[in-house]
Amino acid sequence: MTETKTKGRLIVLSGPSGVGKTTLCQRVLEQVPARLSVSATTRKPRRTEVDGVNYYFLTQPEFERRLATGEFLESATVFGNLYGTPMGPVKSAMESGQTILLEIDVQGGLQVRKRCPDAVTIFIMPPSLEAWRESLRSRLTRRGMDVPAEIEHRLAEASAEITLAKESGAYKYFVVNDDLETAVRQLVGIIKKELARND
Ligand code: 5GP
Repeated sequence: MTETKTKGRLIVLSGPSGVGKTTLCQRVLEQVPARLSVSATTRKPRRTEVDGVNYYFLTQPEFERRLATGEFLESATVFGNLYGTPMGPVKSAMESGQTILLEIDVQGGLQVRKRCPDAVTIFIMPPSLEAWRESLRSRLTRRGMDVPAEIEHRLAEASAEITLAKESGAYKYFVVNDDLETAVRQLVGIIKKELARND
């Protein structure tokens, strides 16, 4: 994709599980002219999730077929499931000058950064690692994941994500989600400033 020839911008928002990315994305989208990319995944839908709205829920063979034919801008395995950003909607949004927001993990963020160096990459940090670990632990338990070893494995993966985000240099901005309103204000400020640079 020749991102430099197009007018739209790509915004990448990443952060470990349980840091509040989904709420932040919703709040930011109320204030900036951008569209959220709908990812594809092989994970099973959760109770409230709708196919085509929250994700495109695909079988593993179908995901792999699309991957092989180059239909994803980026893809990654997260907690044992495949996730990917469909290329088509991103490409057409950017060609028509629209800004598109990707809520993806760090492995995906690194790929996007490489393919589209102009992408605005933002990583959401928890205010306190210990408090975040505790809240993620209780969220995973509430979701019915009661195998302590699996919970610890997820916590370790999420911690590794923070380290990779910091050490890779792929993220331009780090925003701490301590107070929701402050984090929303900071994100909106960053995105508006970056979009203004593109005008
Ligand atoms: P969940 O299954 O809880 O919705 O998401 C798990 C993780 O996968 C989150 O960190 C989320 O940001 C990430 N994710 C969601 N969609 C994509 C995608 O299209 N690509 C990548 N690389 N990660 C994704």
